[in-house]
Amino acid sequence: MKFALLDVRSGAVGLSGLAERLGSGDASARLDLPGGRRSVALPGGTYAEAFAVIAGALDELGVRGDVGAVGHRVVHGGERFSEPALITPEVLDAVRACVPLAPLHNPANIAGIEAARAAFPHLPQVAVFDTAFHQSMPEVAFRYAVPEAWYRQHGVRRYGFHGTSHAFVAAEAARELGRPLAELTLVTAHLGNGCSVCAVAGGRSVDTSMGLTPLEGLVMGTRSGDVDPGLHDFIARQAGLGLSEVTAALNRESGLLGLSGLSNDMRELEEAAARGHAGARLAVEAFVYRLAKQMAGMAVALGRVDALVFTGGIGENSAAVRGAVLARLGVLGAAVDPALNARAVRGESGRISPEGTLPALVVNTNEELMIARQTQDLLAGLKGAQA
Ligand code: AMP
Repeated sequence: MKFALLDVRSGAVGLSGLAERLGSGDASARLDLPGGRRSVALPGGTYAEAFAVIAGALDELGVRGDVGAVGHRVVHGGERFSEPALITPEVLDAVRACVPLAPLHNPANIAGIEAARAAFPHLPQVAVFDTAFHQSMPEVAFRYAVPEAWYRQHGVRRYGFHGTSHAFVAAEAARELGRPLAELTLVTAHLGNGCSVCAVAGGRSVDTSMGLTPLEGLVMGTRSGDVDPGLHDFIARQAGLGLSEVTAALNRESGLLGLSGLSNDMRELEEAAARGHAGARLAVEAFVYRLAKQMAGMAVALGRVDALVFTGGIGENSAAVRGAVLARLGVLGAAVDPALNARAVRGESGRISPEGTLPALVVNTNEELMIARQTQDLLAGLKGAQA
């Protein structure tokens, strides 16, 4: 569980950290305070203990009384949520109803919300959904060509993820370009451990590469991205695997890790490829190829592309990946300025394309700040409605 105390107006971070291995006997929390970093054991491995550590740190900084709300990242909001929502018992039930769609993520999100409500009972809690931004996709983009009953009865459709990040970097890119977001068509690429691209028209998602689950689309750290749906049956028979074992392998043993046989870490793969490791080279090249193909495909959703945007650990740091993707996107009028590209490392956003070509930008994503902003906007709206 990642957490941060944010001043919404300035974006300043008063406290941040990470609780790891929750649910196990060796859970711990890392706190980044103005005075330095600290690690605290969480012997019970619970969310409640993690929130007690956060509350203690707020007291220590003397800012507990200044906290106005808790914003939660919730992975799946199904078709119900196209906006952030004030968490009520009814909203929590709706998040619970989405558990079958995100069995690994939503239960953890619910546990976090319940612990936060217990720790800060007087504060409003807001859910910000990873899927919400993509609820504006048209039906041609979100429907699978499968029996209609699967959609109507079981919600089988494309939802998309990383919405908070795509929305944030699209708005930042508009600022960088000095043009209103409402007028722009953008292809945003969030490239972290999970990777997705999004077609953003006038600030709204009109298509994205992830689908029913975060497994669809690009080659990722350990996820396969797109495969032939016939693969499941084939490999289950050939290798004597169960369906859930195939799904687990596609989620955890595939992607960069599967192709390279070495690592899911792009930095490590770039170094190994430079030393001549054939698997690492193939993994990086396949990652780039599939990414460029998806980004070009998003031009169909947009009709016209005003700019390309790179973000996430790989998008913000790997000049090699960005350069190789832009080299493959000449079809869109893209090109790379090698000097600008080399200079754009984490913390430095900006343009990496030469003048007169399709603008390509690196933008540092900030999901925590976006969640905080959306939380504040929702609460301000509710207050306004009451007045
Ligand atoms: P994230 O999930 O956004 O933190 O991104 C994680 C990914 O970013 C991992 O694949 C890292 O290898 C990659 N990454 C971080 N720093 C670099 C770097 N300097 N060069 C290449 N990849 C990097």
